[in-house]
Amino acid sequence: MTSPGATSITVLSQGRAAVYEEPLGPAGVRVRTRPRTEPVSGAVAIAIRAASINHLDLFLAHGAQRVTPPRVIAADGAGVVQASGDPAWRPGDEVVIYPVVCDWTCEWCRSGQNVRCPHFGVIGEHSDGTACEVLHVDARNVYRKPKALSWTEAGAFPLTFLTAWRMLTTRARVRAGEKLLVVGAGGGVAVAAITIARHLGARVFVTSRSGGKRKRALELGAEAAFESTEFSQDVRDATGGGADVVVEHVGPATLNESMRSVVMGGRVVTCGSTTGVKAEITMPRLFWGQMDLLGSTMGNKDEFEAVLKAMDEGMRPVVDSVYPLAEVEGALTRLDEAEQFGKVVLSMEG
Ligand SMILES: [Zn+2]
Repeated sequence: MTSPGATSITVLSQGRAAVYEEPLGPAGVRVRTRPRTEPVSGAVAIAIRAASINHLDLFLAHGAQRVTPPRVIAADGAGVVQASGDPAWRPGDEVVIYPVVCDWTCEWCRSGQNVRCPHFGVIGEHSDGTACEVLHVDARNVYRKPKALSWTEAGAFPLTFLTAWRMLTTRARVRAGEKLLVVGAGGGVAVAAITIARHLGARVFVTSRSGGKRKRALELGAEAAFESTEFSQDVRDATGGGADVVVEHVGPATLNESMRSVVMGGRVVTCGSTTGVKAEITMPRLFWGQMDLLGSTMGNKDEFEAVLKAMDEGMRPVVDSVYPLAEVEGALTRLDEAEQFGKVVLSMEG
């Protein structure tokens, strides 16, 4: 498929910003000040109130993403429109950002398949990021903030809920009453998957290495929580034969057990592979099991709109902790040590 070229508005981080400068891990991200300008036509300048970090930012900080520094980090942001180069938005509007970079003009984008755009990327990886005082972004990335959400919550949910929504609804087609296993409960996408699954009326089971995280998952509505090694027998026992769907993001360390945890005809859906990029699978389990092994990344504009609607219906992200922008190194360290349950948020206030 051909594309007329990247015609989207360049994302620009301005004012104080958390900038990845050297591949040193969290210590390689520092607060710097960037010049301020007026938004160009078609762009919206948003005074960011809250942003949040993801594993992506850590991979970046460790030099694992083939991103040439300097790069302002973070995909998630919510704030107040400060100036607008698009008639749809006015100063004072409270907004959240669809965290995807795409050209908006190719056939895929025009048919609503933003994830298949040849210029597809993630804000904060393939462009400047949201961890800044003011973000200039394409007006097509801007949505009204769900009214009931605090700024912290609004800055927490976009990337993880968009990712988990597509995994569960579009890819794995989870239905009410189905049994869903979330592996490695604690990370942002895993916690979003638990929350979304409960919103959809699915039954949720989780694994985690941490007793504290297993307890938090049970409080969020999981029926049972298991240790993160050799969990498949426990899952089959607790579910009466296996889960219908497993949500994966861990990769080689758990994939085999995840595949052993599903019923005949079950689905394993993955959006990541934090324990390595290559995994060995037992082929007969896949074909004899009539299994669907599904990949998923980020999500389309209409999937983001569905998340916003679900937030209006009462769904809420889980915020683990909030750090001021100046303490971005501490925020990244918390993620690096895998201590968090839910999202680590950066506040631009104060
Ligand atoms: Zn496109």
